[in-house]
Amino acid sequence: MKTIQAVRGMHDITPDQSGHWSRLEQAVAEVFSSYAYREIRMPLVESTRLFHRSIGEVTDIVEKEMYTFPDRNDESLALRPEGTAGCVRAVIENGLLNTPQKLWYGGPMFRYEKPQKGRYRQFHQIGAEVFGYPDVEVEAEMLLLNQRFWTRLGLDKNVSLQLNNIGDSETRANYKAALVDYLSAHKESLDADSLRRLDLNPMRILDSKNRDTQKLLNDAPQMAGFLSEASLQRVEQLNALLQNQGVKVEHNPRLVRGLDYYNDTVFEWVSNDLGAQGTVCGGGRYDGLVEQLGGKSIPAIGFAMGVERLYLLLEAQAFAALKGSDAPDAYFIVAADPLQSFAFDLAERLRNAKPQFKIMHNLATTSMKSQFKKADKSGARYAFVIGEDEVANASVTVKDLQNGEQAQYAIGDSLDNLLAGLKS
Ligand code: ATP
Ligand code: MG
Repeated sequence: MKTIQAVRGMHDITPDQSGHWSRLEQAVAEVFSSYAYREIRMPLVESTRLFHRSIGEVTDIVEKEMYTFPDRNDESLALRPEGTAGCVRAVIENGLLNTPQKLWYGGPMFRYEKPQKGRYRQFHQIGAEVFGYPDVEVEAEMLLLNQRFWTRLGLDKNVSLQLNNIGDSETRANYKAALVDYLSAHKESLDADSLRRLDLNPMRILDSKNRDTQKLLNDAPQMAGFLSEASLQRVEQLNALLQNQGVKVEHNPRLVRGLDYYNDTVFEWVSNDLGAQGTVCGGGRYDGLVEQLGGKSIPAIGFAMGVERLYLLLEAQAFAALKGSDAPDAYFIVAADPLQSFAFDLAERLRNAKPQFKIMHNLATTSMKSQFKKADKSGARYAFVIGEDEVANASVTVKDLQNGEQAQYAIGDSLDNLLAGLKS
């Protein structure tokens, strides 16, 4: 019989990987907490309409990448392709917008894409959305928070910041018109995708990966020439704040981001070490979205990181910045079945006394030699040996697997001697 495999582009996180995943998530959560961001958890499934209305009809995500299905009541549902729309829905629905909110979330997202390194159909994002701050200080703080991720993860040499300002809706309307004029005069150099976008969403053409289109865009009108006084001022203020904090910035006038809801500041953190999938984090301001989804008019900004891409960067450094290990502290080796009850007693007393201590109790009484081999292979620091002699004397023999030292501890009345003998 043919074995059933995981869905293409969807991956297991194996036990050898999951420890690194948790430590990565833990480090990120700590950084969020140091900026007083609080976690929000949204459902993985939302009404399809939510994404059509927020992300935009003429975007890759909505046009080509969404997993949608009718439920049994014939309502169209979608596996979330990103977190912002659901988060905005949630803050409106839960009445959270009476005060500013700094929120973060994490979890799986789903997009029907062509799977390749750094691009999957189920992938994970950790993102944040901040509501209620109109000025550039929130941009600055968010980018500082991002930068702190990279330092904390040891990736500050691997990623760099690209920034752009895409203006307000008036700017974009004027710019769109100019861009359409320019591109319409060069239709012969546009591919089918870009031609279609020319009518529907011309700014997305700036994002095109097509070489000819890229070349054509070199001489296209630039957004910067269309920015309002207010937007230009924001650019300057943000630059100054970032410069004062030592954040290096590259201005990328082509950066538009793949979703429709952004305005003014947009940014991406990119790496040269991931091939074509170089963006590890992207975000921007989206002041119109809350109102567009039925809430009040409130400024907002957010970002999302691709966890698999971060993981790839960390893996290349053997996870050096993420201290910790899944290896047991103690590996219980038991000489014969009748001694197991004694071993259980000790293991449970030890867990009571030392809750962080990881105890791997080998539950199969194979030969001592084979059990010692397993203990070594597990990476455990100590082998706890329980044989006839140990049980007779209410004791345990502890072998330090790092230096081979061995000692026997009485455990009849208390574990104090044993605990004192274990190095931290
Ligand atoms: P890309 O240009 O790589 O397709 P995007 O603009 O579609 O990215 P966003 O919607 O901004 O991506 O998502 C934020 C981050 O999530 C990306 O920068 C990336 O790190 C990650 N990401 C997006 N799509 C995928 C995917 N299919 N697989 C893995 N990570 C992804
Ligand atoms: Mg994409």
